Amino acid sequence: MKIGVLALQGGFIEHIGALHALQVDSFEIRKREDLQTAMDGLILPGGESTVIGKLLKELDLFHALNEQIQNGLPVFGTCAGMILLAKKIRGTDTAYFGAIDMEVKRNAYGRQLGSFFTEAAFKGIGVIPMTFIRAPYIEWAAPEVEILSEVNKRIVAVRQNNLLATAYHPELTADNRVHRYFIEQIVEKRGKP
Ligand code: GLN
Repeated sequence: MKIGVLALQGGFIEHIGALHALQVDSFEIRKREDLQTAMDGLILPGGESTVIGKLLKELDLFHALNEQIQNGLPVFGTCAGMILLAKKIRGTDTAYFGAIDMEVKRNAYGRQLGSFFTEAAFKGIGVIPMTFIRAPYIEWAAPEVEILSEVNKRIVAVRQNNLLATAYHPELTADNRVHRYFIEQIVEKRGKP
């Protein structure tokens, strides 16, 4: 198994570390040639979604990744990565992969509460640590989107088929159960009944 980690900007190193701790092989995606390596799953890290979105297009990565995503590639997006996966971003007509049927609000917690730590439940896993950094939350999600975590009545983690997204950063804690969920429940089960 090999997981591609988008490494254009933001916090990709920590994702590689979390995968390493699970003994899962990964490689960085920085340029078009990197896509010659076949991947079983993709991680879209946190960072600045507008910057990552722009670089994806400038580096000619967007269409090739989008095609794989539309074809069912398992993807795990954290924070900015979640924004890249959303069908709708509040207050703008821009969307990137548009693959999860939900609307997200960027920098949704305002300046005061821009970054915070809490613990809350992740469906099927239990209570996990959650680090939010200028995070989005999900304003609404279509019925086919499974809600995995809520904090203060806001949806902060979802799954739609092979796509997993969290507004928080599991890669910034030593708890790698969300990465394990991605690998075991989505990547390893892809294409199996
Ligand atoms: N505020 C960033 C954005 O809107 C996301 C922050 C993060 O990924 N930690 O893209």
